[in-house]
Amino acid sequence: MQAILALVGRPNVGKSTLFNRLTRSRDALVADLPGLTRDRKYGLGRLGERDYLVVDTGGLGEESDEIDTLMGEQTRAAMREATHLLLLIDGRAGVTAGDEMLATELRAMGKPVYLVVNKIDATTPATAMAEAYRLGLGEPLPISAVRGSGLDRLIDTVLPDG
Ligand code: GDP
Ligand code: MG
Repeated sequence: MQAILALVGRPNVGKSTLFNRLTRSRDALVADLPGLTRDRKYGLGRLGERDYLVVDTGGLGEESDEIDTLMGEQTRAAMREATHLLLLIDGRAGVTAGDEMLATELRAMGKPVYLVVNKIDATTPATAMAEAYRLGLGEPLPISAVRGSGLDRLIDTVLPDG
């Protein structure tokens, strides 16, 4: 089965930066994949022999902390079609009420959920990781989307057997 990784998180946590890192310039290939709506931003990622689709849920509200805005229609649709859910948080900002709402919502989907702590380059990693752990989504995965660090380990964890 084709793995589909949905990137979910509050505005500005770094979803699009991670999307671009994981997919580089492979967007063009995705246009040819059947059965996918053009409404969402898809990209093809590869690590070794592993191919996976990434969905950037960019359609979220940019201002509000309200759950209805966070979980816009596009995000819900992306969550439904995903095989793996990645909740991104901003390691610099700490865990917010919005992150907690998203964690609850994602957990309820009954799919594997991974907690990704981004911007680890701009914070004290140990503190950010300890706080993230409180979200109850297991061991948080530290990355810097901007620097490209932690990404191989992230994919290895999410897609262990290809
Ligand atoms: P999105 O709204 O979740 O898609 O977030 P973006 O990808 O647009 O990133 C929001 C801001 O965070 C931008 O200014 C990025 O450059 C910055 N950003 C993203 N990833 C990182 C990171 O790993 N480290 C740092 N320091 N900044 C980051
Ligand atoms: Mg974005």
